[in-house]
Amino acid sequence: MSNHNHDDDVIRCSFCGRTAHEVTSMVAGPEVYICDRCISDASGIVSSDVTLSTSRKPSAAAGTRSSSAKRRLSPLEMKSALDEYVVGQDQAKKALSVAVYNHYKRIDSSEYYTDYQDVELEKSNILLIGPTGTGKTLLAKTLARVLDVQFCISDATALTEAGYVGEDVESILANLLHAADFNVERAERGIIYIDEVDKVARKSDNASITRDVSGEGVQQALLKILEGTVAGVPPKGGRKHPEQSLININTSNILFICGGAFDGLNEVIASRISSNSIGFTADFKHKIDKFDPSIFQHVEPDDLVRFGLIPELIGRLPVISALDNLSEEAMRNILLEPKNALLKQYQKLFSMDGMDLMFQDDAVTAIVKKAKALGTGARGLRAVLEDTMLEIMFNVHEKSSIGRCVITRETVEHKAEPVFEPKKATA
Ligand code: ADP
Repeated sequence: MSNHNHDDDVIRCSFCGRTAHEVTSMVAGPEVYICDRCISDASGIVSSDVTLSTSRKPSAAAGTRSSSAKRRLSPLEMKSALDEYVVGQDQAKKALSVAVYNHYKRIDSSEYYTDYQDVELEKSNILLIGPTGTGKTLLAKTLARVLDVQFCISDATALTEAGYVGEDVESILANLLHAADFNVERAERGIIYIDEVDKVARKSDNASITRDVSGEGVQQALLKILEGTVAGVPPKGGRKHPEQSLININTSNILFICGGAFDGLNEVIASRISSNSIGFTADFKHKIDKFDPSIFQHVEPDDLVRFGLIPELIGRLPVISALDNLSEEAMRNILLEPKNALLKQYQKLFSMDGMDLMFQDDAVTAIVKKAKALGTGARGLRAVLEDTMLEIMFNVHEKSSIGRCVITRETVEHKAEPVFEPKKATA
């Protein structure tokens, strides 16, 4: 009893229950108290809410808009900016540049253009088709960098339709929101690259068998966000935090670029072309066989339906572009030319240690040949280089007198010791 009375006399924080002795300070209101710890927690919650809501305020939005309008590059400028980082793939670059130009024009159209008010511009999401390692992701990433918009990469194979084990389609938006540091306005104008979209194709034409968890259901779910919807996104992603409140993201101005290798699509295209002789000369038919690397250039939406994408999804990807297989010359250029070309990166690493690194011409050819044999496109270049350079980079620091390290064909092909040239004597 006395205990109880005693307790009643003690001032306690109405939120956490700590006594005045346990905390540094206590603020009193009419019959309530709050301790310094709870004040600090509460102020953290309030300020994060304020950040989220101010990022939606018209003033912030107007700021982003005017700067993006200022910065809008023409398709030609966009393509030449892409040229600095991505080798070849001219057709895809052109298609991307025009699609992206129109995309941002469409976003701004409601505010800046009053003509053709009743004509609604449709969204031009993009589908990139091409073998692995040919630059699909690089193109999307570079585009975002050039445009200075938020970008993220998601993998369609990780997705399942809502309710199944795996990630909901909304997790893609959560990734973008994260990348944008929870700036909703920025996320809503970003670019999302969805990789391996071919892997969610329906496995057979017979749609009736069983429910296709990873295939058609995911395509249906993707459809909505690609088209434009307001999705409730769990800020922490996933279903592990059911208590979190959802943030609404409007996807109608997000540009989606989907990519995939579409193995087997070549056969679909070839069989369509050869069965549909009308309109093609015998000569053209003769040239098209399923192993022709340029066959993807002839892709039509119907081929994708036959491959297993649902027509509605293809309808949401109006721009379809095929990437070329990389030729040996293109691979060579990738090693040498882009702003952050692989060889330049190694040269930089060496120069930071005060050494020159040189690749003889036939060493470059040997790297390309080895990489080609791996069949993973330009990705093989890094693998071959890592393999070639590992031992050298491990040992080179022991040879302090080296001024220049020359990589020869023998080094690439048989791991022969590179040619080391001594440091030039400085005057
Ligand atoms: P994917 O087509 O499978 O998406 P990526 O774009 O991820 O291939 O390419 C893998 C790597 O290969 C990139 O990091 C890049 O360094 C290099 N690469 C591929 N294609 C090109 C290209 N056309 N130009 C320059 N680098 C390329």
